[in-house]
Amino acid sequence: MVSSIESSVGTERKVVTEIPGPKSQALHERRKLSVSAGLTNGFPIYIERGEGAILLDVDGNHILDLGSGIAVTTIGHAVPELVDAVSAQVAAFTHTCFMVTPYESYIAVCEELAAVTPGTHAKTSALFNSGSEAVENAVKIARLATGRQAIVVFDHAYHGRTNLTMALTAKNMPYKDRFGPFAPEIYRVPMSYPFIDGLSGADAAARAIKMIETQVGANNVAALLIEPIQGEGGFIVPAEGFLPALSEWTTQNGALFIADEIQSGFCRTGDWFAVDHEGVIPDIVTTAKGLAGGMPLAAVTGRAEIMNAVHEGGLGGTYGGNPVAAVAALATIKTMRNRNLVGRARELEKIMLTSLKSLQQDVAIIGEVRGRGAMIAIELVQPGTKTPNAAAAKSIVSYCNKNGVIALACGTYGNVIRLLPPLVITDEQLNDGLSVLVAAVRAAG
Ligand SMILES: *Cc1c(COP(=O)(O)O)cnc(C)c1O
Repeated sequence: MVSSIESSVGTERKVVTEIPGPKSQALHERRKLSVSAGLTNGFPIYIERGEGAILLDVDGNHILDLGSGIAVTTIGHAVPELVDAVSAQVAAFTHTCFMVTPYESYIAVCEELAAVTPGTHAKTSALFNSGSEAVENAVKIARLATGRQAIVVFDHAYHGRTNLTMALTAKNMPYKDRFGPFAPEIYRVPMSYPFIDGLSGADAAARAIKMIETQVGANNVAALLIEPIQGEGGFIVPAEGFLPALSEWTTQNGALFIADEIQSGFCRTGDWFAVDHEGVIPDIVTTAKGLAGGMPLAAVTGRAEIMNAVHEGGLGGTYGGNPVAAVAALATIKTMRNRNLVGRARELEKIMLTSLKSLQQDVAIIGEVRGRGAMIAIELVQPGTKTPNAAAAKSIVSYCNKNGVIALACGTYGNVIRLLPPLVITDEQLNDGLSVLVAAVRAAG
């Protein structure tokens, strides 16, 4: 602990020093001596505590969190149900390794995953530590279950930073540059990106399928792997009909449909999962981020016959489904149900879309406002064009940070601002954050 601030976290954004404040700046200098420079060095606001949608920084600034640590603290910071469950588990035992001496909470998490993921078919799950690890395992399982090797991914996709998932991820800088060679048998096809391509979902799917059939061969495809709403790639929402058409193609061709719901899952889009919006039932779903309220936990959930095709001992890892993370997931899912966070995400969508669409009328740099639930973005362009405007995104994020609001940029071209507030944010807090964002956009435009 660098300092101990007595004031409570409270419920309001309050800026008491320049941001970053002197203590944050000092920590940032200290960091440079011992933390790898390879980690993003963005805007240093060092945090001491959190509550709901507010983070208290080391300088006593009350920061409004519209990022949720990248869609992780969906139920908010320091939620009592989660704190109690985690504290009790830490006191009981922190680790045994599920493959050595198992425990009940792992099973209970897999039961919950079977219940909340799309489809009423028999499902089993395996638990891991990170989203990347879940995606890697989904690919392993799909290849084994189908006896095929090719994995089809999409433009703008983000699936992680490990060697296999770097190959699955689209964007070179900063994720892949000079980190190769990459894993083979990965094929990339065009995403449905209505703002740019203007295609219907059916036409965009036909374009992707034609490429798969001519360049890969349907009989070689183990799986299509897709984020139903793309996250890091720019909150790209595919046109209606795109996902159902691809899902149908996989069924007809003996391939699997893997939905990477790591960012879009767990109430974020106003449904339990983003594929629910169009009634798509994936063969395999990968989850992480929102699943365990900030504890590291990830899962692969799939049709029982696919998941159980793997030989005994073929899946695992030392920490996967750690007991502390498992009880955190149970508390998180319970909180999502008890507080109807699916419904709350839909209310937040209305507030954000109303404010941002009205702003779009007044400024020329917003090309599109899009997203679902509490996963909303604005794509910034050069006025009168669809040319990406990364400089505007950068200045908007910096304006927000300096005024005590965490907002994140994303997108292949770095020109998208994404909003991922905790779903427990109040209307007042969200409106306050939006007022800062609106001022930031006006200043940039
Ligand atoms: C964040 C993310 C990942 C990678 O998760 P990590 O926990 O960072 O490894 C994979 N897929 C999607 C869609 C993500 O948003």
